[in-house]
Amino acid sequence: MIALSLAEIAGITGGRQYDIPDPDRTVTGPVVIDSRQVEPGGLFAAFAGEHVDGHDYAHRAVEAGAVAVLAARPVGVPAIVVDDVVRALGALARAVAERIGATAVALTGSVGKTSTKDLIGQLLGALGPTVCPAGNLNNEIGLPLTALRATEDTRYLVLEMGARGIGHIRYLTELTPPRIGLVLNVGTAHLGEFGGREQIAVAKGELVESLPAAAEGGVAVLNADDPLVRAMSSRTKARVLLFGEAADADIRAENVRLTATGQPSFTLHTPTGCGEVTMRLYGEHHVSNALAAAAVAHELGMPVTEIAAALGGAGQLSRWRMEVTERPDGVTIVNDAYNANPESMRAALRALVAMGDAARAKGGRTWAVLGKMAELGEESLAEHDAVGRLAVRLNVSKLVAVGDREAAWLRMGAYNEGSWGEESVHVSDVQAAIDLLRSELRPGDVVLVKASRSVGLEKVAEQLLAGE
Ligand code: ATP
Ligand code: MG
Repeated sequence: MIALSLAEIAGITGGRQYDIPDPDRTVTGPVVIDSRQVEPGGLFAAFAGEHVDGHDYAHRAVEAGAVAVLAARPVGVPAIVVDDVVRALGALARAVAERIGATAVALTGSVGKTSTKDLIGQLLGALGPTVCPAGNLNNEIGLPLTALRATEDTRYLVLEMGARGIGHIRYLTELTPPRIGLVLNVGTAHLGEFGGREQIAVAKGELVESLPAAAEGGVAVLNADDPLVRAMSSRTKARVLLFGEAADADIRAENVRLTATGQPSFTLHTPTGCGEVTMRLYGEHHVSNALAAAAVAHELGMPVTEIAAALGGAGQLSRWRMEVTERPDGVTIVNDAYNANPESMRAALRALVAMGDAARAKGGRTWAVLGKMAELGEESLAEHDAVGRLAVRLNVSKLVAVGDREAAWLRMGAYNEGSWGEESVHVSDVQAAIDLLRSELRPGDVVLVKASRSVGLEKVAEQLLAGE
């Protein structure tokens, strides 16, 4: 972060100084919300969460080298006390973003935000100093924490923006006004909370509404293949750049295929030329993410040959998203347990089947170990049923549905589609799934593990990798 004195921080946040012997002392290190991540010279922001209250860790943070604590009440160590710590973090982020003048690139969408943010970070990193931390920092706390990592040298700031309701993205764009805004897709994630796809489109469209006009350099990067995203071109003053497989997309993929290992390969077309791309990431869904990242890099002046090479070299950054690991005994685990919704379930199943083709030749089988997709509202039953049916149609060898009601629907879908008997099982919890797989897996098998975050299916992947 850029150096700010405690007096400046108090001024920016409207906070009161407590127990501060020297207001001119500067904060240089990162701003963190977990006292274990404090670095000397940093600032600790205390939040009162459901289970832990950050204020209880203020002493520890200062012992670890924090210059002060941003807090909602005095804590007995140097503190800047504000009415609302979230708003104060936002104000700090806005001040820092204004001072450094880096190009802010913001992205939103229903699925693929973190994956695409990671790709953009890897591409722009080749163009200049880029701030793009790993992980899922996409809300009113995570976004300021990201922005506050920027320094005077930073040229590009890559910001993931999530929306849980109308107005959320508008708030985030006011903190770090983006010049380039990217919308990936409008899917069914969080459908239950929003009450409909159109509402989700309204919320996500706030990103393109916030962009500067074309004459001032504003660029809206929109998915040409998603009608609700394409329609956002009428809601922005910025220049529109389309990506996708549609014939009129400015940044286009042609000849999309999956290699025998499940990695997508395609011809990338841009207004300045073409390039061949074979990705290291798994699953066809990454083609759309790659095109989105390519569009941003193209806009910032990266030549197509470099874009193609960088997309081919881009590896995993954030955890639990199609993380592929082969055990010494030849069992492959695909850990996609970070989250799930209908779109990402379908994409992951297709990737599993592509990877399984090679395995099958050697006698291996494909296993889909799936749990519920949360927050689908009244679509939930039908969507779980459809995923179970798709597993059968794609010819997955075995389905293990983990959990209670939704898992039962998944399994029933498979059963009804293919009269599946022992090819599909329903187990009640994670431990039962681990026990079953431990006894059944054999060399050559490929195992996909995927569900919504709350199911905690990453434990299955971790146990299968650890406990061999
Ligand atoms: P969140 O709302 O939790 O922040 P996100 O939008 O950041 O999610 P990711 O974390 O990138 O999304 O991916 C979530 C899941 O969706 C992963 O399982 C990933 O493999 C899958 N996925 C990523 N991109 C796409 C895509 N374009 N289409 C479908 N599924 C995708
Ligand atoms: Mg994310």
